[in-house]
Amino acid sequence: MEFKIGLIRGDGIGPEIVGEAKKVLDTVCSKYGHAFTYTELLLGGASIDATGYPLTDETVEEAKTCDAVLMGSIGGDAKTSPWYQLPPSRRPEAGLLAIRKALNLFANLRPAYLYKELRDACPLKDEIIGEDGFNLIIVRELTGGLYFGARETKEVDGVMTAVDTLTYNENEIRRIAKRAFDIAMKRNRKVTSVDKANVLDSSRLWRKIAAEVAEEYPEVTLEHMLVDNCAMQLVRDPKQFDVVLTENMFGDILSDEASMVAGSIGMLSSASLNETKFGLYEPSHGSAPDIAGKNIANPIATILSAAMMLRYSLDMDREADAVEAAVQQVLSEGYRTADIWSEGMTKVSTSEMGSLIAERV
Ligand code: NAD
Repeated sequence: MEFKIGLIRGDGIGPEIVGEAKKVLDTVCSKYGHAFTYTELLLGGASIDATGYPLTDETVEEAKTCDAVLMGSIGGDAKTSPWYQLPPSRRPEAGLLAIRKALNLFANLRPAYLYKELRDACPLKDEIIGEDGFNLIIVRELTGGLYFGARETKEVDGVMTAVDTLTYNENEIRRIAKRAFDIAMKRNRKVTSVDKANVLDSSRLWRKIAAEVAEEYPEVTLEHMLVDNCAMQLVRDPKQFDVVLTENMFGDILSDEASMVAGSIGMLSSASLNETKFGLYEPSHGSAPDIAGKNIANPIATILSAAMMLRYSLDMDREADAVEAAVQQVLSEGYRTADIWSEGMTKVSTSEMGSLIAERV
């Protein structure tokens, strides 16, 4: 099959890790008979250097012509990079928020998967992790809720007072809930919808709509969980979760908790999707300017993001499985980049890790 992929190489380690993910995708194409064409897109610091702005209309328009976009990370060292002398709206990170908005990326997917080979990096006790570790995904609503509601700080009766508004309408809840159920259909068919329905009206509507959507997916089990309980359950028994569906702020906090529980930052992928199959795929980590250009960064988070792209934007489950299995195999053979290296393992560079994974696809 033919697809057009946008590549945002980005800043810092971005070009190195995207190069390795492309190596793996090229192997997928030749093994499975697909043809991907790539178009290079500028974002963040690289875009500032070329155009003066972190995101241009040209990048947005070109991204819209793609089936999916794969991105490294953007940004630099805030203390030393000239990008951070610019006003906030012209800095690298402003470009990332703007492209998410311009492409209407309302669904953020953050898997947290514990490789048994890396269980030493997991801060949880062995008896909690169990034999097989855990494998969950957080589906977070990304364009509504508290972060986008009306806000104000003013003096009321001589007292400084601040208000933030948490608003969701049923359409916003329904579309993210459907996304979560669709994803559950590709996984273990369980959705845990997380809210604070004992206190918040927006959560009571969330719960009602999630239950309505569940009726369209009889094969999927839905459970509701209060957010405070979910925060506890993620460290008490993460194995119970498959798909965790939640609103913007709860998802922001829970996805960071889940990634910490899963261990190394160099392993964690993410995706942001819109109403169509289109998505922006990127590692959860930043541009790591401290190790840029040294060929030591871990490319696995970006390679696993490319696997998510195959699965969710291109409907290539078999190919995504092959990439994930190749990552697992390389780890079980004892190859590690510096960030996940431990005694007795074979230390490899960024490019060696990419090649080892590509060879095993
Ligand atoms: P970071 O994630 O870039 O780095 C934190 C630490 O983890 C560093 O020690 C780094 O060397 C290490 N690290 C990160 N990814 C690694 C990898 N793949 N392999 C090995 N080690 C890795 O976070 P930071 O230092 O806070 O931010 C650096 C820059 O990245 C900032 O400009 C920040 O704004 C930006 N950032 C971008 C994104 C994004 O593009 N989505 C996300 C987070 C941060």
